[in-house]
Amino acid sequence: MVDSKSTTGEDKEQSFETDGSRYSEVNPDRPLEFSREKRDEMIRKSAKRVQDHLERLPEGPAANLDHAHQKAEQLRESVPREPTAYDDLLDTLFEDAIAHSAANPHPKFLAYVPGGGLFHAALADFVANATNRYVGTWVEAPALVAIETNVVKWFCDLLGYPEDAFGLLTSGGSMANLVATITAREERLADDFLDGVIYTSDQSHHSVAKAALLAGFPSENVRSIATDDEFRIDVDALESAIEEDRDAGKDPFLVVGTAGSTNTGAVDDLDALADLCNREDLWLHADGAYGGFFALTEKGSEQLDGLDRCDSITVDPHKGLFLPYGTGALLVRDVEALARTHSVDANYLPDWDPESGTVDFSQLGPEQSRDFRGLRAWLPLKMHGVDAFRDTLAEKLELAEQATDCLRQLENVEIVAEPQLSTLAFRVNPPGVEGEALDALNEELLEVINSRGRIHLSGTTLDGEFAVRICVLGYRTHREHVADSLEEIERVISEVTR
Ligand SMILES: *Cc1c(COP(=O)(O)O)cnc(C)c1O
Repeated sequence: MVDSKSTTGEDKEQSFETDGSRYSEVNPDRPLEFSREKRDEMIRKSAKRVQDHLERLPEGPAANLDHAHQKAEQLRESVPREPTAYDDLLDTLFEDAIAHSAANPHPKFLAYVPGGGLFHAALADFVANATNRYVGTWVEAPALVAIETNVVKWFCDLLGYPEDAFGLLTSGGSMANLVATITAREERLADDFLDGVIYTSDQSHHSVAKAALLAGFPSENVRSIATDDEFRIDVDALESAIEEDRDAGKDPFLVVGTAGSTNTGAVDDLDALADLCNREDLWLHADGAYGGFFALTEKGSEQLDGLDRCDSITVDPHKGLFLPYGTGALLVRDVEALARTHSVDANYLPDWDPESGTVDFSQLGPEQSRDFRGLRAWLPLKMHGVDAFRDTLAEKLELAEQATDCLRQLENVEIVAEPQLSTLAFRVNPPGVEGEALDALNEELLEVINSRGRIHLSGTTLDGEFAVRICVLGYRTHREHVADSLEEIERVISEVTR
């Protein structure tokens, strides 16, 4: 063991104890600093665990939640006073925590909106967090801000926005919807905004209503507009609602269109919404958290026609670009609107001129210090080029078609929502079973499927009836996984309808 008093530089401290419980005893003056050797060892150990985990992931369960609650209870503890060895902490993480959870990146995880978590994006995070530069203002790290600026510009370009459109990366789609709502409020309403009305369909994500609430609007200021047979907003009903509100002295100001609903992947007629919002002088925001990046594909770009006409767009790279959680984006046609909405004077902030060609992300949104999330998107996009993402997204659209075709061939199965993108909904519908009994049967179907752990699906209510959803968005999900999943569904259907 090195006498800490005699060492001058970190790299000269060679023989840290390998027993992690003694880390903080090695150099009591600098308890949080590790030698290069120690760092190497920690990286190696972490990498091995991750590699083992990823290698076993496809064969493991798509969700393992049976004893998860007990595991969670066991992990409750008070503030640690004594050091714990790194190996023991990795054990806790991988064996007691990660192993007992829903495996969102699993190839047969088809519930909710599956998560990807590209491996190289994790390495980008490692680099970003270990170097820990500040990207909130241009002056502190111009080249790093330029990297994130590129990413935002690329997103604008990929979604068909004009050259001068811009935006910011957020922690996710909910935050992007919130920033969009507040920006629309600031741009379209007076300070006294409580007559302002927001319109969205009955299929929109709950984060839209939450954003309205957080932006200061009582829930009665949010109109839930009916949808058609394909779960797209009824534009005529929307128009009538706007007229009614105007007649009642209200201030319609924002329409939130759904560019791929979470429930069924339904895409509102964005072109028609853009026409209407132009006529009525309303801000049009598209919630493309799930569906937006399908604009990269041929089929998706047809479905999403009109997306580029929206005043602002939410996309979620942690969904549509398979990145790790914590990566959303808000894109706006008029970036000045973002700057105006978030401008405050603070004498400790550098002055920023939006015309200067530089960017201060901290002046375009609510966050000041934050992670360098741009790197997480930049690295994989640069390593592959965008076509790898386009092809992967196109594959997901085809897989949803494949799943639908398989389901159609099963007896007593009804497709409740055809895939407009990569999501569909179905239910079993055997003769003589109706109403609550039919709902109960489908709930049982979902429960049995998920309890077996081979695949993971989720349910929803459509037109008042319970339906089972399939959403294909994992980058590890391919033809054979969909085929396996459909076999599993078929097996369980024959069990529960016997
Ligand atoms: C997932 C989702 C959101 C919320 O995004 P988060 O990244 O989970 O905050 C919003 N809208 C839609 C349509 C979504 O699918």
